[in-house]
Amino acid sequence: MIKKYLLAPGPTPVPESVLLAMAQPIFHHRTPQFEALFAETAKALQGLFKTTQDVIVLASSGTGAMEAAVVNTTSPGDRVLVVNGGKFGERWGKIAAGYGLVVDEIAVEWGTAVDPAAIAKALRERPETKLVLVQASETSTTVLHQVAEIAKITRATDTLLVVDGITAVGVLDLPMDALGIDVLVTGSQKALMLPPGLAFVALSEKAWKAAAAAQQPRFYFDLKRERDNQQKHTTAWTPAISLIFGLHEALRLLFAEGLDNVFARHDRLARATRAGVRALGLELVAPTAPSPATTGLYLPAGVPGKIVGYLRDAVGVTFAGGQDRFKGKICRIAHLGYIGSFDIVTAMAALEMGIAAYGRPVTLGRGVGAAQEILLEGMPAVPAA
Ligand SMILES: *Cc1c(COP(=O)(O)O)cnc(C)c1O
Repeated sequence: MIKKYLLAPGPTPVPESVLLAMAQPIFHHRTPQFEALFAETAKALQGLFKTTQDVIVLASSGTGAMEAAVVNTTSPGDRVLVVNGGKFGERWGKIAAGYGLVVDEIAVEWGTAVDPAAIAKALRERPETKLVLVQASETSTTVLHQVAEIAKITRATDTLLVVDGITAVGVLDLPMDALGIDVLVTGSQKALMLPPGLAFVALSEKAWKAAAAAQQPRFYFDLKRERDNQQKHTTAWTPAISLIFGLHEALRLLFAEGLDNVFARHDRLARATRAGVRALGLELVAPTAPSPATTGLYLPAGVPGKIVGYLRDAVGVTFAGGQDRFKGKICRIAHLGYIGSFDIVTAMAALEMGIAAYGRPVTLGRGVGAAQEILLEGMPAVPAA
């Protein structure tokens, strides 16, 4: 038997009580019973997004909500600005191109964050730009973009700011209304601690106005229809009922911990992981703008990308490797969702022992110890004598 640890940036581990909630017998969705559950869930989602707008629940993976964001706010031939600093930024461009939009791109060096000034400049040059499309956390490069700064720019224009928050919502504070984000998207299998299959999207007043004029073809992802239904505490189509059971419980867990504590936990786990990586003398992929969701590190010389598969299959610890130009070069340790201090201890120990198994020099315990120094911050006070 090999005990498994899932430390990849989605899907992430699912808490026991969420698994049990999803195991309960299905009940029909056109019932007062479901409507009561869905109403509570929808309200909690507004709390998570920090918005007074409806957070629409879709049965799809996160990319479905990205597509919904695009098709509900544009007409063919519209111009959009994509921040492309990794695989998910690239995906915004592909979705937009797929719907006949004119795509301008800001190419961002992998491992770095976009300079908000570049967005301001692009919008000054092309004020007709309908959308700015960006990731809050670019999971492929483990970078955090400065959404608050970008929102300051778009707020003063007619352009909508569309944020893929798939590894940010529930990881860090991203108050949609206060920042002035126009469309915020997330998915179930990252910080929400659920299996894949649900996606979420909320629109600002400004974005709903754009939606009323948007001419893109749409049917399943028609957000106006979903909103009309959600306001009656139901969904347009059959919801992923079992996942909604799980979502209700996952949100209960997040609010029981307290969102500020959830954000502080993610920040602590991320700092601990980075400290461990640095203590091992390894280089971070995103040293200047690291995401609190996932830490990327360059593999040391002589350690092949295959270490990720070895740790997963032979050792039982799942990290993520790199994609595209990062393939074989980096390893990503995720710390979002149902993750605690001792997952990070495990992660650092596995990394050290993996490097040792490949015959490269490493001081066992050095990364673990550096991580522990920071994890200590999260230790509860001992009981009074
Ligand atoms: C995981 C992820 C997605 C993709 O979501 P799917 O659920 O695979 O469709 C999109 N954006 C970011 C930033 C992600 O981390």
